[in-house]
Amino acid sequence: MIYQIQTKFRDEPRARGGLIRVREFTMKDAYSFHTSQEDLEAYYDRCYRAYERIYARAGVPEVIAVKSDSGMMGGKVSHEFMLLTDIGEDSIVICPECGFRANMEACDAITENVADETLEPLTEVFTGEAKTIEEVGKYLKVTDEKTCKAVVYQRNADDSYVLIFVRGDKEVNETKLTNYLKAEIHPAVDVENANLAAGNIGPVGLETKATVLFDRSIYGATNLVCGANKAEYHFTGFTPTRDLPEDTEYLDLSKAVEGGVCPNCRKHTLQIRRGIEVGNIFQLGKRYTEAMGMTYDAENGERKNPIMGCYGIGVGRLIASVCEAHHDDYGPIWPITIAPWQVEICALRIDDANVRAAADKLCSELEAAGVEVLYDDRPVSAGVMFSDADLLGAPVRVVISPKTLSRNAFELAARDKSFREDIAIDTAADAVEAKVKELIDAVNAKVPERL
Ligand SMILES: [Zn+2]
Repeated sequence: MIYQIQTKFRDEPRARGGLIRVREFTMKDAYSFHTSQEDLEAYYDRCYRAYERIYARAGVPEVIAVKSDSGMMGGKVSHEFMLLTDIGEDSIVICPECGFRANMEACDAITENVADETLEPLTEVFTGEAKTIEEVGKYLKVTDEKTCKAVVYQRNADDSYVLIFVRGDKEVNETKLTNYLKAEIHPAVDVENANLAAGNIGPVGLETKATVLFDRSIYGATNLVCGANKAEYHFTGFTPTRDLPEDTEYLDLSKAVEGGVCPNCRKHTLQIRRGIEVGNIFQLGKRYTEAMGMTYDAENGERKNPIMGCYGIGVGRLIASVCEAHHDDYGPIWPITIAPWQVEICALRIDDANVRAAADKLCSELEAAGVEVLYDDRPVSAGVMFSDADLLGAPVRVVISPKTLSRNAFELAARDKSFREDIAIDTAADAVEAKVKELIDAVNAKVPERL
């Protein structure tokens, strides 16, 4: 394996969310090279576990791995590491029943249609100005599930049209569509030029040069409302398995939904959550080693292309994510394992010779013991010093002031407000060190074993 931690650049049209989506960022990239798929898989598992350990040690054990879409990177198996948070820009599908989890882009969508007892004949009905599935449903008094809508896309390369028929209450998953077509697409901008009856497009009697696809959400459905391919008319009584050719292919092109069927345990338990992607790992295969002519000499002297894995961590993003998971109204609360300083000494009234002497002594004792210390000896008010300390977010704080000295003590407090106590001056360094160790142990307790 080779790796780098480097500044990267991206021509990002939508920079947002502080450090979450930016044009310049710090990234850890690693690449592994293997002579067999088995070796790659074994190494991939070790990296997967190493990632779980990294996030736990960074103080975000809540980061979870989800199956992801390999997309443009190629390869078959890949995982994203996600921090679940409402400000995240990715949709993640989770089953609390069996532990299944996947990125929305890579999640199988399962629809269970129950057939009506009687099949109505396909009947053309007047629907006037009603065009969207919502309007048509309202006009004919049927729910979205009993409709079949047409969604129109165009290929970016040549603007050619792609038509997808999907159940009215479902949404097209554009990543699945892109992968199926092996082409980049965008929602159609001018359906008028496509020779299609916009708003009245239906799968029966449709004459078009567009690529026509059927989502499996309509498979097994009966008595649906769909467009009749002429202005102001729709069909009722559309039953795909009866009205479409027998060899029609029903593809998985729609998005999983809240309360939908879990692809793993088949219960209606899916939940959709938001998350920030903080890392990813891919089994790449030979795509790049073949393209770049990278070879090694095999035992029999043959020249072969190694099989690659790749492993990324967005370091800047990770900082933003940790902040997201650990903060209050006053600023970040850094986990002690990644805090810029483990301890901040707040010396109030530094003009007082006793305060100065006590704070200097504690600072040098802690530094000698290997504790990372920030020493605030500015002549500022307690209010200013404490609000700055909250913003810097060091997890442990020691306050030394004429008031604490009059109690023959220092005050030891946690940034997360979980404790606040007086400690004896004589043994202060030991007490602070013990508290630092306690916090480190609490983080490490959540780190999974090495594989
Ligand atoms: Zn499940």
